Amino acid sequence: MYSVPKLKSYSAAALDKAANGVKEELHRQVEQLATAKVKERSGKAAPDLKVFRDEWMARTNGVVTQLNESWLKSAPTKHKRDVGKVVNELRTYITEQVGNALEGLPSITRVSDAGLRRILGVRDEDLDHLDITLPGTRRHLGAEHPVIKTLHQIVSVFRNLGSSVQEGPVIETDYYNFEALNFPPDHPARDTQDTLFIARQESKPQRERLLLRTHTSPVQIRTMEKMKPPVRIVIPGKVHRNDPPDASHSPMFHQVEGLAVDTNITFCDLKGTLDHAMKALFGSSVKTSFRPSFFPFTEPSAEMMVSCFICGGSGARGSEPCRPCKQTGWIEILGCGMVDPNVYGFVDYDPKKVSGFAFGMGADRIAILKYGVDDIQLFFNGDVRFLEQFG
Ligand SMILES: [Zn+2]
Repeated sequence: MYSVPKLKSYSAAALDKAANGVKEELHRQVEQLATAKVKERSGKAAPDLKVFRDEWMARTNGVVTQLNESWLKSAPTKHKRDVGKVVNELRTYITEQVGNALEGLPSITRVSDAGLRRILGVRDEDLDHLDITLPGTRRHLGAEHPVIKTLHQIVSVFRNLGSSVQEGPVIETDYYNFEALNFPPDHPARDTQDTLFIARQESKPQRERLLLRTHTSPVQIRTMEKMKPPVRIVIPGKVHRNDPPDASHSPMFHQVEGLAVDTNITFCDLKGTLDHAMKALFGSSVKTSFRPSFFPFTEPSAEMMVSCFICGGSGARGSEPCRPCKQTGWIEILGCGMVDPNVYGFVDYDPKKVSGFAFGMGADRIAILKYGVDDIQLFFNGDVRFLEQFG
């Protein structure tokens, strides 16, 4: 609520300055209202016109009333005439401005230059030769980064199948990243994930030592700890490994992982779910194929391949060999398997009563395949010329 400052002097200059102070406050509020009205068109809440009107025009304590009380009535007799003139002018000005603002956008001549520039999106240097009939300065709309877009597409496929989205910390403990996922200390399977450890953790017990998670799988454990079966989740997120950057490796990349645990979940559910997901992602004509693999936290484990959606599975594009599938017609897309019963021991699930499957895939790799990008570094160099192709 604006309150009119008391008059300290009655010289012509002081009266002028005080009147201008009131006008400035009025301009500021009119601009605010105009901005709010512009925003209202894009779905923002409507500005409160009554509050604005009352602040200036209300009989009790509106600015016009305050001018009468605080300026005119308390002025010494010999200054009453000068003060009265200023107050009268201000009253007319305020009434007109408030009326304009309530009717619609204020007439342009009455908004300050700065306000006008803000409303019209005009740069300072354009102001001398401003032609408001020309279109405004167009601002570029942002767009999703291709990797994040791919991540969202994968997540939405599994959300549509009823999975909820879970996330977890990027800095993890050894326990969640390895031990609870059935990687015992000193197990050689740990070597397959070149891990970036946080420095100076040696004094802690091994399971409490911090590291940058090498996969999104710790979130499986964290979710099962707080949720009883049935569990159906999809886990997107950043992971890190000690891989020197090159065309196909990055020390930071993105995974999407899924987990389903319930009674009577079988390998058939795993195959059916993933086959559906691949068709949703890459088109209904892709075929899927599984071959045995090894992960400490699944048993049995498999790698899934999809028929190459670039060459249609033929291994060639016209007379050229198809490079993404190395001419085999198949692309290895994800790792999966039935959750190893040992894992349930860490989260207090009964492996005799429940079973489940898990899978994980690299969103960056899928983005590379989808968009035909030949170097993963392009995604993370922040070169706008590269990125704006996907906008
Ligand atoms: Zn191919």
